[in-house]
Amino acid sequence: MSKKDYYEVLGVNRDASDEEIKKAYRKLAMKHHPDRNPDNPKAEEHFKEAKEAYEMLSDAQKRAAYDQHGHAAFESGGMGGGPFGAGAQGFDFSDIFGDIFGGGRGGRSSVQRGADLRYNLEITLEQAARGTETQIRVPTMSECSTCHGSGAKPGTNPTTCSTCAGHGQVRMQQGFFSIQQTCPRCHGNGKMITSPCKDCNGNGRIKQHKTLSVKIPAGVDNDDRIRLSGEGELGVNGGPAGDLYVVIHTKQHAVFQRDHNDLHCEMPISFSTAALGGSIEIPTLDGVATIKIPAETQSGKIFRLRGKGIKGVRSSSHGDLHCHVVVETPINLTERQKELLREFESINDKDSERHNPRAKSWMNKVKNFFAQ
Ligand SMILES: [Zn+2]
Ligand SMILES: [Zn+2]
Repeated sequence: MSKKDYYEVLGVNRDASDEEIKKAYRKLAMKHHPDRNPDNPKAEEHFKEAKEAYEMLSDAQKRAAYDQHGHAAFESGGMGGGPFGAGAQGFDFSDIFGDIFGGGRGGRSSVQRGADLRYNLEITLEQAARGTETQIRVPTMSECSTCHGSGAKPGTNPTTCSTCAGHGQVRMQQGFFSIQQTCPRCHGNGKMITSPCKDCNGNGRIKQHKTLSVKIPAGVDNDDRIRLSGEGELGVNGGPAGDLYVVIHTKQHAVFQRDHNDLHCEMPISFSTAALGGSIEIPTLDGVATIKIPAETQSGKIFRLRGKGIKGVRSSSHGDLHCHVVVETPINLTERQKELLREFESINDKDSERHNPRAKSWMNKVKNFFAQ
């Protein structure tokens, strides 16, 4: 099996520094990692090649042997398989693994996914019902254009951390064990910024605003979230950006209250319409509808208009519109109107049980209550 040159695999020069080798490997491992390339044997092959090349070139002893003898230094056969024997297989992969995929395993944190952002978007009930497209302006951390994200003042370069020699981790001896810890000086970056960029204070990122177009689907409700993938904060050290969640808030409507896909509204009708019947016009989200009020309609009666509610994002049909009748007591009466009502009441009095059965039965209950 003819093997590719390790330096070629990583795409670095033969005099590349440890840092350059690590960086090149990190980049390749990110690109070809099996988790990111499911069912892609070619990516897996590249991944294995890069891993092997890094295994060899990141170890000073092995790298020297390879520089001198090429692949022959590691060919098995003969005595114990090359100069390193079984030890050559003992590469601790989790070491760099945690580094690349953002903590969890290795405890290193130099590559991080950017934070998710939340944007509260207020829309009208009509917009929620019909859907809309709107522009939002969101604050975001972007790469500093002065230092191109390095955090170092233009003309200067970050220097390798002397505490960990650029590894981002230090070994501590504790009794029999040696424990690896994130370097306390560079916090795992492996680099130190001696003269920070003035525009971003060495963060490499600055706060900016961006305008995004958001498509709101018809039927959205309060607290529904629309995810704008990758529009969150920028990742750290080449990590992926976070997501932006647009959270829907519906403004209070002058006429309608929403309950899931149903709408409710109050429908005040006059005292005489309630008694005699009639028809009234009622607004709906798609125009005016007429409701026939039967004679003897009481307060609290609900008229349901089927399909005049909202069609939810995940539902197949529209909700209903519920109109709640409120019989309004007339105010600001003229003398003439008062006179007629007094006359009405005097006639009413003679047969009040027939005309006001609820009032009569309530009175009887009250009487019984006091008689006890
Ligand atoms: Zn900067
Ligand atoms: Zn360090």
